[in-house]
Formats: sequence, C-alpha cells, structure tokens
Amino acid sequence: MEFRSIKGTYDVLPNDADRWQRVETHVRGFITRAGYSEIRTPAFEKTELFTLSVGEDSDVVSKEMYSWTDQGGTDLTLKPEYTASVMRSYIQHNLGAQSPLTKLYYLDNLFRRERPQKGRYRQFRQYGIEAIGSPHPEQDAEIIAIAYELLIELGIKDITLKLNSIGSPECRNEYRQALKDFLQPHLDKLSEISRKRFDSNPLRIFDTKIDFEIALLQDAPTITSFLTPDDANHFNEVQTYLEVLGVPFTLDTALVRGLDYYTRTTFEIISGNLGAQDALCGGGRYDKLVETLGGKPTPAVGFAAGLERILIAMNEVDIDQKIQADKIYLIGLGDAVRPTMLKILGEARKAGLNMEFDSLRRSVKSQMREANKIGASLAIILGDKELKDKSVQIKDLKNGQQESISIDSIISYIQGLN
Ligand code: AMP
Repeated sequence: MEFRSIKGTYDVLPNDADRWQRVETHVRGFITRAGYSEIRTPAFEKTELFTLSVGEDSDVVSKEMYSWTDQGGTDLTLKPEYTASVMRSYIQHNLGAQSPLTKLYYLDNLFRRERPQKGRYRQFRQYGIEAIGSPHPEQDAEIIAIAYELLIELGIKDITLKLNSIGSPECRNEYRQALKDFLQPHLDKLSEISRKRFDSNPLRIFDTKIDFEIALLQDAPTITSFLTPDDANHFNEVQTYLEVLGVPFTLDTALVRGLDYYTRTTFEIISGNLGAQDALCGGGRYDKLVETLGGKPTPAVGFAAGLERILIAMNEVDIDQKIQADKIYLIGLGDAVRPTMLKILGEARKAGLNMEFDSLRRSVKSQMREANKIGASLAIILGDKELKDKSVQIKDLKNGQQESISIDSIISYIQGLN
C-alpha cells in the first residue's frame, strides 16, 4: 500500500520550505514592528465557538468544518478560522484588563473541507492581526494599511483593496428587509442555497459565485444608503485616514463578508494574477463578537491573509530581491585549511551572516557550481596559499570581481558591503 497526502493537503519540501520561512519571517517582522504581539491558540476548539460566532448558515460552519465528538462526548472542531479562537482566549484570560487596547497577531494552520483547487486547500496557513478595544476609525485604517502595505512590501503587484461598510446591526435590519423586497420577485430563479439564505440571512446571498445572481445583485439596494449618521461618519473617516496613509482603495457595496460578527468596516484585498481564488486577505470590524461569546462589549477590528495565495502571487525574483539575505559560500581547498574554514564559518554565523560551506570535500569547480546553484552573492576561497598568507580570496559572484583580503577582516569587510 502506498500512502499519499490527504486530498487538499500538501507537503512543504525543503526547496519550498525556504521560501515559506523567508516570507513568514518577513511577515512576523513587519507586524511586530507595528506593535502587535503573537498569540497561539490550540488547533481545535469546542464546535459551538464557531457555530455561535461565525454563524450556522455560513458556508464555513454548514459545510466545511472538520468536526467530531471525542471519547468524552465533547463536540470539537479543527479551527476553520482564527478570530473566534483569539476572542475566546481574550475573554478567558481577561486580556482587556491588562491594557485598554490589545494588539495581537497569529500565523498558523487552519482547516476547512472546501473543494480543493489552486489556492484553495483543506489545511492552509493564515496570518492575521486583531486590534481589540478601539471603536475608532483610525484603528480600522491602521489595520487596513498594515494588510495592504505588507503585501506591497512582499513585492506583490496588481492588488486591489475593496472597501465597504455594513453599518451597525440597527441599519442592517432595515437593509435586510429592503434586500428581501428587491429579491422577492426573483425568488424562484435563485439557487437553492440563496433561497435558504433569503430566509435565514439574506446578506449572505452576496457571497454567491453564480453569474446570474451576481448580475441581479448589481441592481439591488446598497447597504451604504442605509447607514445611520454615526455609521456613515465612521465610514467617511476610515476613507479619509486611508487617503492620508496613502492606501488606495475602491468602494464595493457587494462586500458584505460571509461572517455574522462583522459590523461597519469590511474589506478585502484581491490579486489580479491568482485566477478564481483571488482573495489574498479579508477583514473588518466586529464590535459584537466579544459580547456574543460572553465577554464584556468590546469593539475590535482585524484581518486574515492566506499565505499559500501570497506565495503564489509573489514571483521568485521579488522574493530574492526583497527579502533574501545575501548568501555567502565558503570554498575550502585541501585538508590543511579545514580548521580555519570552520573558524571562519563560526565567526560568520555569530555575526549573523548567511554562510554555507562544502562538507563533501569536492573540487573547487564543484564548490563554485554549488555557490551559484544556491544563489550566493559572494564566494570566499581559502586554499593552501591563502592559508599561508593568512588571507582569503573574496569573489563577487554578480560581477566576477575578485580580491584578496586578510582572514581577520572577512566579517568587517562583508558587513561593510551592505
Ligand atoms: P477568510 O477567513 O475566509 O476571510 O479568508 C481569509 C484569507 O484566507 C483569504 O483571503 C484567503 O487568502 C485565505 N483562505 C481562505 N480559505 C482558504 C483555503 N481553503 N485555502 C487557502 N487559503 C484560504
């Protein structure tokens, strides 16, 4: 019998793991610099946490969860999204008591039993941030700017930020009725799932992927014309702050997001070179979630971004240029040089340099080939002659220039190049 990875899952093999690590390191660095701290929650939670927060009639809860009843009779689910779990932890550990504004990020695996295709998996990886405690529009704008700028920094081109406000629950009730009135005459032409949503949660009909329904909805009343004055002010301010931050956006009134806990701001960032699964990142404000899960009413805003899609959208050149530290390949020739070679390697590692060496005792030609293969920018060559002179040859692999420097000055020489 031959075992294979489960449908919708994949192995990250060493070649790819390198890319993953570089991207993840970059993401962590960027988010940490913005003052967000990491939170890690368990891979599974009580099923009810998700039915309560995400909503029973959402695609995620109704069709896609990996749920089971364990030996003790508890209903459990592998996390299909992170926010509910973060909020559970926030309430459980009373994090709000430590600071009026709690700024968290995560980077972890999630599980949804979706139909696998390019950019859509059953185990996938997301990073996301949550700012818990501020109801103000500048917080929405900061979150959106981080989501956007991080993608730009990663070198992803051709992205569009779509922005909407779905207001507070009060104006949504009124809007829901208006939407139903609009859809009523077309009800028999709608898909089964949309008809079901018509009764349970009509806003969800906007999640449709059916062309006819998308076209129909273009003439539907828009949520933004139902916003209360407070909601409208909030939305206007978010837009003003985004302009100030230099983050371009387009308004999209169909963007209502599939989750129940959203209030006011919703946004999504899509990429033009991803095909059908074009959403890189989605988020918004969810002022009612903490309360829904049994905590004190606490406003919050956040986003989640899918790493697989980001890796697909990034091209190799950009990763190399943007976030790959320069690699140095240390070439040793002959038995006598070995201790000195390892000493140089040790010092380079301590200095935080990215240095590799050849432990196969191959010829200079093979070692040079290896240096090129790994994409090194510098080669350091140490042979018997150099050992005698206490020097090395440093070769710039981009322009082919080579010079001799003393062994003692290798580190400062390389550091001086940057
Ligand atoms: P969501 O939690 O559905 O708003 O998703 C946020 C982001 O996670 C999306 O924009 C995608 O980039 C990513 N994502 C969601 N579902 C999947 C999946 N099944 N496979 C890969 N990425 C996903």
